[in-house]
Amino acid sequence: MEKLSDNTQTSFEDIRRNYLGICENIARSGRDVRLMAVTKTVSPERINYAIDLGVSLLGENRVQEYLEKRESYKPAEVHFIGGLQTNKVKYIIDKVSMIHSVDSMRLAEEIDRRAAQHGIIMDILAEINIGGEETKGGITADSAGRFCSDVNEFPNVRLRGLMTIPPPNCSESVFADMQELFERLKVENSHNRENAAFDTLSMGMSGDYEAAIKYGATIVRIGSGLFGYRKYL
Ligand SMILES: *Cc1c(COP(=O)(O)O)cnc(C)c1O
Repeated sequence: MEKLSDNTQTSFEDIRRNYLGICENIARSGRDVRLMAVTKTVSPERINYAIDLGVSLLGENRVQEYLEKRESYKPAEVHFIGGLQTNKVKYIIDKVSMIHSVDSMRLAEEIDRRAAQHGIIMDILAEINIGGEETKGGITADSAGRFCSDVNEFPNVRLRGLMTIPPPNCSESVFADMQELFERLKVENSHNRENAAFDTLSMGMSGDYEAAIKYGATIVRIGSGLFGYRKYL
């Protein structure tokens, strides 16, 4: 049960081995899945090493940490995946290409407003609380349809799909529920706007990404499985 090794101690060789293993598992699934390297608490040197290995997408989940760190690693595509307060949107709006964690109309509205100021259209995902956990944010499965159609009214956001963080050690049926919701909303949301591409299901982390892929994930978000465990866990 040695689990608390600090990821600043993970060797490059371990990162390489982890990366190749994950790529192999994704390839074996035969699906078109994008690997996101989740970089919270990971040093710029290790992030750069992952980029050199072939990682093309990074996930940042803390505004402050991202702003402090971003200039010290190589340019890469970055998505924001963490809880986002509306008053922080302005700091990242022009520094990420997608926001996965949109869990309220207020947040969507603020993203729309800030994107308009920058003359951009921001890709977003609706974060779904698929396990119906009371302590967690996210949109319930029941209100997801309404949320998506409301968000589609904003001219400067483009709803690209759904994201979820399922309960730890949940059964695979949760992934199946998520897939079903995604497929249903895809039909409902694909007609709404020209070029609309409701094609992204962000689901699966280090411990469950293979199950997530089985149920249609298109982006898996992997932190500790690539870089080693975080100390604060
Ligand atoms: C930390 C984090 C991950 C990665 O978790 P691991 O279990 O370390 O792979 C994925 N998604 C979000 C939103 C996270 O905050």
